[in-house]
Amino acid sequence: MSERPTTLPAVTDVLPAAPPGTDAALEVLRRVFGYESFRGRQAEVVDAVIGGGDAVVLMPTGAGKSLCYQVPALVRRGTGLVVSPLIALMHDQVDALRAAGVRAEFLNSTQSPDERAEVERALLAGEVDLIYIAPERLSGGSVRSLLDRVAAGPGISVFAIDEAHCVSQWGHDFRPDYLALADLVGRWPGVPTMALTATATEATHRELTTRLHLEGATHVVASFDRPNIQYRIVPKDDPKQQLLKLIRDEHRGDAGIVYALSPNAVEQTATWLAEHGVDAIPYHAGLDARIRAANQSRFLRDDGVVVVATIAFGMGIDKPDVRFVAHIDVPKSVEGYYQETGRAGRDGLPATAWLAYGLQDVVQQRRFIDQSVGDAAHKRKQSANLDAMLALCEAVTCRRRQLLAYFGQPTETDCGNCDTCLNPVETWDGSVAAQKLLSTIVRLQRERNQRFGAGQIVDILRGKRTPRVEQHQHDDLSVFGIGSDISDRGWRSVLRQLIAQGVVQVADDYGTLGLGRLGPAVLKGEHPVRLRHDLEKAAAAHSGSKRSATVAADLDDASRELFERLRAWRADQAKEQGVPAYVV
Ligand code: ADP
Ligand code: MG
Repeated sequence: MSERPTTLPAVTDVLPAAPPGTDAALEVLRRVFGYESFRGRQAEVVDAVIGGGDAVVLMPTGAGKSLCYQVPALVRRGTGLVVSPLIALMHDQVDALRAAGVRAEFLNSTQSPDERAEVERALLAGEVDLIYIAPERLSGGSVRSLLDRVAAGPGISVFAIDEAHCVSQWGHDFRPDYLALADLVGRWPGVPTMALTATATEATHRELTTRLHLEGATHVVASFDRPNIQYRIVPKDDPKQQLLKLIRDEHRGDAGIVYALSPNAVEQTATWLAEHGVDAIPYHAGLDARIRAANQSRFLRDDGVVVVATIAFGMGIDKPDVRFVAHIDVPKSVEGYYQETGRAGRDGLPATAWLAYGLQDVVQQRRFIDQSVGDAAHKRKQSANLDAMLALCEAVTCRRRQLLAYFGQPTETDCGNCDTCLNPVETWDGSVAAQKLLSTIVRLQRERNQRFGAGQIVDILRGKRTPRVEQHQHDDLSVFGIGSDISDRGWRSVLRQLIAQGVVQVADDYGTLGLGRLGPAVLKGEHPVRLRHDLEKAAAAHSGSKRSATVAADLDDASRELFERLRAWRADQAKEQGVPAYVV
């Protein structure tokens, strides 16, 4: 360590001298943090940064990303600058560091001017090992010039951007303040920049890399597999009852997190669970800050508390023994789902990730996207994120494989532990049905030089002589009536799945259908298609026959809704790419 002109000694300076030849990083890890060895790929990151290089770190929640910047900050000269989006998180981290003897501080909106002035003085005096700063602080010129003076004086050891997915519009947690951080990258020559996140789709990785100018960095992407988590997605029937059954049958007395979409649903569910003997408490942004903090610390401190929460809860929560994470509404994206479920089983012991999926959720999510602020491109990304989540819900194969493939880490074998592995979904060979549908699309394009929407295509397949069919003389087509073996509803289920699988696509804003990415291969018989039996049957089987009529009605609405959504998305794309819309 270099000299620090300070009154307070650095923790690394007061430790007994390390035996010669000992790795400085390992020394800090052992003596300051009390851990024997680095875990996973931490050492790789730490070495690269101590050597002065930039790093992009993608590791799942709980992997230990904090140490990746904390250790280099203590080994290198100067103060480590950490950007962290949540004030509560900052306090926890700073408290833990101070308890370990590290001189840690933060700068955020909760401080009085006096407190802030004291932090600034300590910074300029080189008395701070690690400073945590909220992103909105960094957009102000005064903090920037303060940091310039620190860089020119005692030095900045590392510039770490935690939760860096917040810079990405692909992410589930975009924060405009994060965009301004890009200006700071490279501002202080010789200071390594790090971006860390638990979000790992290739799209997010690419976007955060370019936005933060980290193309030349060392990129460390850890495995995203969480083998101790059992993934289960069930048809939603009566979510509160289903949840209570899950808790009573499998997680009595366990700590758990239940995610719901709205504060209202959070309150109702928490109250209802409490009335039924579960130690449940609510958490959402609408609660008084003190109650929120109290509920969070009860969850962290006491055993067996179930917190019912919106997604406002959980970033940076470090509770190892959360035994289940339940979603009673479908999440907005696979990334969000993975992050939220990743809070289960951080101790490595078996844990459950349970989601109740109703197609009605699609309607609600669609509304959220429509009403969200943001430009068309942002909405398109949100739509694509939701599509991927729906595809995961409708998956007929191993959930874990689907998840890992989504994060760009395909595996060869099924996990044997998720719901689809344990209770294989009843599927049927949909190849011929898909070929019938695809050839109808192709015929219509070739012989009528037009594209048509789902309604007319299903009518043609079913051989129905509707006025529109007769108007276009579709009954002359050789494909007329080739699909009469499947019901209307059956065809809609087939279509929904073929769209989710990329075999068929909605081609324009009129909802006309075209061949998807896999369409040609399916037509040629090179790509077999597996379809699950209509969810309607599965849902009816779960809920008993008296509910099946409502379930069917829900499904009808929802599949229409899914259609509308895809149609709107395609319409945007057609416009953007200048593709002509062939209209009925
Ligand atoms: P992340 O930010 O990746 O979600 P954290 O940095 O919060 O994870 O770390 C999660 C937990 O793992 C913390 O309790 C931390 O102390 C612990 N941890 C991190 N690295 C190690 C290690 N090398 N050995 C033992 N425990 C570790
Ligand atoms: Mg973290």
